[in-house]
Amino acid sequence: MIVPYTTRWSSEEKLPGTVVERRGFGIAYADEILTDRDDHGVLWQRVPSTPGVGQPEFGKVHPARQRKAMQNLLCQVCGGPADVDDLGTLWLLPDYDGYHEDWPGWPDRMATPEPPVCLSCAHIAVRVCPALRKGHVAIRVRRPVLSGVRGALYLRGPLVLRPADEGMVAYEDPAIRWTCAAHLVRELFGCTVVSLELTKAGGGSTRS
Ligand SMILES: [Zn+2]
Repeated sequence: MIVPYTTRWSSEEKLPGTVVERRGFGIAYADEILTDRDDHGVLWQRVPSTPGVGQPEFGKVHPARQRKAMQNLLCQVCGGPADVDDLGTLWLLPDYDGYHEDWPGWPDRMATPEPPVCLSCAHIAVRVCPALRKGHVAIRVRRPVLSGVRGALYLRGPLVLRPADEGMVAYEDPAIRWTCAAHLVRELFGCTVVSLELTKAGGGSTRS
């Protein structure tokens, strides 16, 4: 059984932390410490890191490991360096009706919380990952730019703050101050759709 580096384990339950409003600023933890925020000043979910303990929860992502992989362009499956060639870093994304309907011109300029992959993991992932078996596309990205986060946007309720749906928020959006992040997001510029088979043969050849 392959458990991806960014997959959350059952022992990695979100830690309690009361989210409060800091007047004129946005949200904060009532007992906030320095490591609760990233370099952009964004608040992050508190989740302990105990990979390998308990059961893997496929489909759930560990915030700190996802953030490390996305920040450093590590493979989301093995945690090693993602593959890079002349056309850029390798991404493997689902490709089926509805997955990218909000992104005209996809995959260029698409914002994604999915970290990149290395070549050997890409070949395994297309066989074993249920989300990719429905359809997938391999993309080389010349300029993957850190652009924001995916997380829970907090709204003022009648008495206390309450988290609304998760969504992607850009760093320049004022809503970022009201978001508790769970994933780091990159916007993909300079995309070339490639064939994994050709890539395996030392390619980088385009499919379209
Ligand atoms: Zn890998």
